[in-house]
Amino acid sequence: MADAVPGRRFVHLFQWGRAVPYAEVAISPDLPLRGTFSYHIPAGMPVTAGDVVLAPFGRRQLPAIVLSVTEQLTYTGETRDLLCPGEPALLPHQLALAQWLAHEYQARVAACVALMLPPAAFERFREAVRWCGAAVSEELSPADRRIAARIQRSGVAQMAALRRSFGGEVDAAVARLEGLGLAVRRMLLPPPAPVTPGAEPPSPPPPLAPAQAAAVAAIAGSMERQLGMTYLLHGVTGSGKTEVYLAAIAAAERLGRRALLLVPEIALTPQTTARVEGRFPGRVAIAHSGLTAAQRARWWHEVRAGRACVVVGARSAVFAPQPELGLIILDEEHEASYKQYDPAPRYHARAVALQLAALTGATVVLGSATPDVVSYWHAEQGAYDLLLLPDRVGPPTDDAAHSSPSLPAISVVDLAAELRAGNRTIFSRALDRALHETLRAGEQAILFLNRRGAASFVLCRDCGHVPRCTACLVPYTYHSGVERLRCHHCNRARAAPVDCPQCASPRIRYLGLGTQRVEEEVRSRFPAARVLRWDRDVARTAADHERLLGMFAGREADVLVGTQMIAKGLDLPGVTLVGVVTADIALNLPDYRAGERAFQLLTQVAGRAGRGAQPGRVIIQTYAPQHYAVQAAARHDYISLYYAEIRQRQRAGYPPFGRLARLLYSHTNAQRAEEEARRLARELAEQRRLRGLPGVEIIGPAPAAFERLKGRWRWHLILRAAQPGELLAAVELPRGWSVDIDPASFA
Ligand code: ADP
Ligand code: ZN
Ligand code: ZN
Repeated sequence: MADAVPGRRFVHLFQWGRAVPYAEVAISPDLPLRGTFSYHIPAGMPVTAGDVVLAPFGRRQLPAIVLSVTEQLTYTGETRDLLCPGEPALLPHQLALAQWLAHEYQARVAACVALMLPPAAFERFREAVRWCGAAVSEELSPADRRIAARIQRSGVAQMAALRRSFGGEVDAAVARLEGLGLAVRRMLLPPPAPVTPGAEPPSPPPPLAPAQAAAVAAIAGSMERQLGMTYLLHGVTGSGKTEVYLAAIAAAERLGRRALLLVPEIALTPQTTARVEGRFPGRVAIAHSGLTAAQRARWWHEVRAGRACVVVGARSAVFAPQPELGLIILDEEHEASYKQYDPAPRYHARAVALQLAALTGATVVLGSATPDVVSYWHAEQGAYDLLLLPDRVGPPTDDAAHSSPSLPAISVVDLAAELRAGNRTIFSRALDRALHETLRAGEQAILFLNRRGAASFVLCRDCGHVPRCTACLVPYTYHSGVERLRCHHCNRARAAPVDCPQCASPRIRYLGLGTQRVEEEVRSRFPAARVLRWDRDVARTAADHERLLGMFAGREADVLVGTQMIAKGLDLPGVTLVGVVTADIALNLPDYRAGERAFQLLTQVAGRAGRGAQPGRVIIQTYAPQHYAVQAAARHDYISLYYAEIRQRQRAGYPPFGRLARLLYSHTNAQRAEEEARRLARELAEQRRLRGLPGVEIIGPAPAAFERLKGRWRWHLILRAAQPGELLAAVELPRGWSVDIDPASFA
């Protein structure tokens, strides 16, 4: 600090208590900059961690977020002075969360900070002057008085606008006004126009069933005594989990705390959001995916100002600036959509929520009918407390025999047996009969189909056998031109079999099926039925989803044909039949979680049936009727699925017994992509040896499941270890590589 003459130093200490002359800042993640930057804090400038500031950068002046302030500098170059202080942009716990994210997911801290700000915040911060409320002093010269009057009139004025009106003398004039305590210069986001919340009367909560009441009491107790517990709420579909969330949010509000409610995909859960808004009218901030940048900025300000008792949104809502946070809920905590895929940081909202809770003392509720096997394992180990809702609840039914709706009966149809019986159509005899009966009774049916998988696999249509890699436990991907099977994790390859290795049948191939084909088949078999198709091709926006839901809920259609995207959250009492046209794609995805995912999908899908007065039934068609995931789903038996999965994963070292990191490289040239992947694999192996990290397994390199995407060839490497980050830290990744810790997909 060259200019720290004793007098000024004294003022500095006197005014701000401690001497913290340097700031470490992050600059917009959109600029191609790595790392953070050091600046000098001019004496008397109020700057604390979490603030936005204006920093000189080359010839430009850029808004930046202060990550830390320090007396000592590790940086040895010249430090320039910060130009303008700002107000806190991040809450203190958010700053800590951003730093954790950067470390945990090997991402740039600026990109992590940006997640917690309104969109394009770095570009939208402005240098402004705020009036301090005092009357304009008589001592001001006329020019200063004109500028002061302008600031006073609007309360806050942007420096750029003042410079346009008054020219270059503004900076000196504002400095004089600051010296007199009349105004302060600050970096600000343009404040949003205020909105007045509607004042609908709240919808009353129903009396809770005993299991619901017990769950709410536990959650409320943790909040009241600030225990910061994590609860795994395992409740069957329709068991009233959402009602538990609402009661827990109400309990938080009574304790003066606020809540976050995360849902897998906001566009697909209009019913849930409507229920939350109905219960807490005017106090809910919903992060709709369709918000414009300006609406999103307003949303951020409203939340930051504490206007929402609950924030509802998809994974990124975990970064909402919710003050006095007491409760974080993840609905359908097992959903893969909680994982960010691109761009970095590739975070998992559940891991972030748990870290956020650790930083704030908030209580966490992870809700699901089909918990993530890893979450259930944590509950079994005692890290989470298990809350059970074993039965369905619901409004009283007309039918005295059904005091509340029960879980639907699930039957499994063996497609190989259908084939042997001469049925070559896509509907088994059982599903065909059930559709007839449902339509005749004037009830509704849903037919589900998996989105076609990332890769094709080989399946025996007589015995259901699927060849898999024994080391990675994933099905081999079938490459038709060269007639090869390849494991897209470890790159092991073999010739595609001509006959089934298990039963010698020559019918060893598999043809995928699309929603359109199913729709056509329903139309031709049931000409009188009104059919609605619902997939990504016909529904892209939230409005599309709402329109299709409205049509089906309003009984404008009898049969809904859709992909797994509609498996969640639909609560339609008219639906009594659910048909899974084929479970095999789900069972054979090239992913170690395929069995678990298939179980989740089948359970969620089945949960759409029989939610009203009439009991429901479900028919699952598959070539693998004995598969443990199918069997467990058919018996509503989560526990047997859990143990089957846990045993396999322990054997193979998959989560929770190890962590994975996926390193993906892409290049326009196929050979370069492969060479670089092999080079990095060698370097990693070398570093593993040098650093004595023999426990880190290097799997691959292999072509990714989508080998070629958008004109680029893609190769990946998978690290499997207790802490793959240890080895990752030892290498520098050239451009073109991306890192995904705890990957949710290997596509
Ligand atoms: P989940 O989230 O577990 O699928 P929901 O909370 O959506 O279950 O509840 C299923 C249905 O039962 C909803 O229509 C809901 O309004 C109703 N419901 C939930 N709890 C109760 C209750 N205690 N009394 C009456 N109806 C309830
Ligand atoms: Zn076979
Ligand atoms: Zn393999």
